[in-house]
Amino acid sequence: MAVDVLSSHELTQIAPVFGQTSFDNHEQVVFCNDKDTGLKAIIGIHNTVLGPALGGTRMWNYASEWEALNDVLRLSRGMTFKAAITGLNLGGGKAVIIGDAKTQKTPELMKKFGEFVHSLSGKYITAEDVGMETSDMDLVREVTPYVTGISESKGGAGNPSPVTAYGVFMGMKAAAKFKYGSEMLEDKIVLVEGVGHVGEALVEHLTNEGAKVIITDINEERLQAVSEKYGAHIHRGNDVFEQELDIYAPCALGATINNDTVFKINAAIIAGAANNQLANEHIHGKILHERGVLYAPDFLINAGGIINVYAELEHYNRQEIMRKTENIFNTTLEILERAKKSDITTHQAALNVALERIEERKIENLKK
Ligand code: NAD
Repeated sequence: MAVDVLSSHELTQIAPVFGQTSFDNHEQVVFCNDKDTGLKAIIGIHNTVLGPALGGTRMWNYASEWEALNDVLRLSRGMTFKAAITGLNLGGGKAVIIGDAKTQKTPELMKKFGEFVHSLSGKYITAEDVGMETSDMDLVREVTPYVTGISESKGGAGNPSPVTAYGVFMGMKAAAKFKYGSEMLEDKIVLVEGVGHVGEALVEHLTNEGAKVIITDINEERLQAVSEKYGAHIHRGNDVFEQELDIYAPCALGATINNDTVFKINAAIIAGAANNQLANEHIHGKILHERGVLYAPDFLINAGGIINVYAELEHYNRQEIMRKTENIFNTTLEILERAKKSDITTHQAALNVALERIEERKIENLKK
């Protein structure tokens, strides 16, 4: 097979993995390719100090391999901090499969992906993320034990999304208590951006509590279905931040708080499920802080899903899953207080707690 030989000039134009802006001392990055099934995947293992790297697999039609690589680097790093702040003995990892989940996902492709996961001997444990279903994890389970989020009928804890949504709801209530003095969300105007697995379950909690919910999604069918079911108001178009919101809940993809939106977001609180909501955690976190927009750190409040899949590894029951998830309320309040006391961004306050736990464990491990 002919392989293009790049000139030395062309080679210097390609930023290598270690030079990517999203690279943060990741331990291992694995590129997986299978010609027969068309699988092209990247597994990112960020940090395994606290335990094996656990994180979902995302299937997305990335515009380029660089985009996929940066996504997996950012997502796996986020998982490290999510597990750490939640008190789980897990490291951070994530995988991305490049392709359209609707048209290119096949049982053969999922099983081949499972074989690559298996080849890492448990250093990385997978689960579902955007573009994945519990049934996909069941297929992966056929070739490797290093998978969570499998069906309850197959001994798993089932779809983690409702638990994630409950945790986000808890984090949102904590933010409301901090901001308004009451955790009640009745009559609050809440924008839920992305009404997929997590977004829909969040809309349910919000409408049950009497919030006024606005929804957006690029999927028209989802919009109609969720609106009809819960009476949520649909917003179409790119001007959603022109209206005054109490709470903005990003539940689609990451980086929606970016140079284009950060000054426009007209909300008192941001609390949602999406991973890596801040395009640049330092720049955009600081701008929100200065604007007085209270940001509930994503990796802290969207940990319900990882708590749910961790139960499969630690064999704890539903009651314990919900107790741990409900505790996101207390942890969020603590982090918001810390940030206020030290006059730092809420993201940084959460990051500090996570980093402290990892450092402590590193020292303990060295003593062993
Ligand atoms: P999903 O694929 O079920 O839903 C995502 C929804 O967002 C889809 O309906 C999609 O059409 C919509 N969307 C995509 N781009 C959009 C855009 N530009 N504007 C508006 N809507 C858009 O995914 P999910 O499982 O609900 O996860 C949502 C987010 O939460 C993801 O960022 C995921 O990484 C994160 N998350 C999920 C879990 C979980 O348990 N599923 C856990 C932690 C974090």
